[in-house]
Amino acid sequence: MVEHVVVVGAGVYGAAVAASLTRRGARVTVVDAGAPAGGTSGATFSWTNSCGKQPRAYHDFSVVSMEAHRRLAAEVPHGDWYHEGGNLEWAADDAGRQELRKKVAGVLDYGYEARWLSRAEVLDLEPDMNPGGLPADEIAYFPREGWIEPTRLIGHLLSGAVSRGAELVRDDAVTDLEVTAGVVRAVRLASGRRLSVDAVVNCAGPQAARIAELAGLALPMRNTLGVLIYTSPVAVSVSRVVHAPHVHLRPDGAGRLLLHTPDVDDAAHVSDTGEISVDQSVVDRVVEAGRALYPGMRSATVESVRVGERPIPGDGLPVLGRVVDLPNFHFAVSHSGATLSVHAGDLVAAEALGEDQSDALAAFRFERL
Ligand SMILES: Cc1cc2nc3c(=O)[nH]c(=O)nc-3n(C[C@H](O)[C@H](O)[C@H](O)COP(=O)(O)OP(=O)(O)OC[C@H]3O[C@@H](n4cnc5c(N)ncnc54)[C@H](O)[C@@H]3O)c2cc1C
Repeated sequence: MVEHVVVVGAGVYGAAVAASLTRRGARVTVVDAGAPAGGTSGATFSWTNSCGKQPRAYHDFSVVSMEAHRRLAAEVPHGDWYHEGGNLEWAADDAGRQELRKKVAGVLDYGYEARWLSRAEVLDLEPDMNPGGLPADEIAYFPREGWIEPTRLIGHLLSGAVSRGAELVRDDAVTDLEVTAGVVRAVRLASGRRLSVDAVVNCAGPQAARIAELAGLALPMRNTLGVLIYTSPVAVSVSRVVHAPHVHLRPDGAGRLLLHTPDVDDAAHVSDTGEISVDQSVVDRVVEAGRALYPGMRSATVESVRVGERPIPGDGLPVLGRVVDLPNFHFAVSHSGATLSVHAGDLVAAEALGEDQSDALAAFRFERL
């Protein structure tokens, strides 16, 4: 019988898994090498979506995950870390418009909500946008998409887990796993502490391959860096996620805006000593694109630039649930974790406690890699 579960990592995945495990009655220890939300979950665009995700199983899983956010936020008083304001997207050239038409047709075919808006309709939604920055029509709108505040979500999930008896260990890395006869017996921490376990859940995000390796498993990952630009508070009305050709942006609470675009990810450099820097000219370019789209942003300054590492399994799809050859070791690792973690974490927790979730998780098993 599974009594004690160690969850490695306290990002969105670790928090969601721990919350679900404790709701199901397990004794849980969550261990993080740093602070909760100090990893990728603290440096993410966190757009909740299933916009163009392939294959169909991944699309459907993302849609159910979006519903899980909606449900959780509705259940919890002050669950206002979840913002379902929709997402606007348009393209700058013919090739981009072709791509976008294809994407919209594809998601409509899957029964996902999407519609085309004109410039005037978009200005009703986003009155502070510069009309000159918008095409006359063919602006895609995905009304059920939104964004989350991951740090507040993690705070809520971990506080629930702790109130149900979980122990939260910070600033103490998992350094070893004791595996004998095809079972993980104990987790060793940098402090020298040894935790006997009935099950382990690997929620170490970009470091998930390292934890898998401690268990003798090879998890191929192709992580990438992403640059995120946080502005000072600014009195401009931005109510939703916007994917414009040269800048992606969304509100970030208290009037701050978060700017991003994958085009600038190459501007992040990691030195031999692990220090991360970002080319200033690239940051300036993204901020200028934001100002061109929302002239009211002119007075905003850049408060911080963060670099997040996307945890991307080798084939791009999530890795979730038990391992056949090591049945008390479980994965909860993916890109798009801001979208997936509440739903996926619940399924992984159920499986760690002995409920087979193969119907839901078949497409995301470790063994396919
Ligand atoms: C630029 C960028 C944009 C993104 N945009 C989106 C988006 O729009 N929508 C979306 O859904 N997703 C998005 N993502 C992806 C999403 O943010 C991640 O999938 C998610 O945050 C991963 O959460 P996690 O809990 O797996 O990892 P993390 O948040 O990194 O948590 C892992 C934790 O494990 C801990 N850890 C690591 N090694 C050890 C160890 N040895 N012992 C103990 N603890 C350890 C770390 O300290 C860390 O706190 C984006 C990511 C980036 C970088």
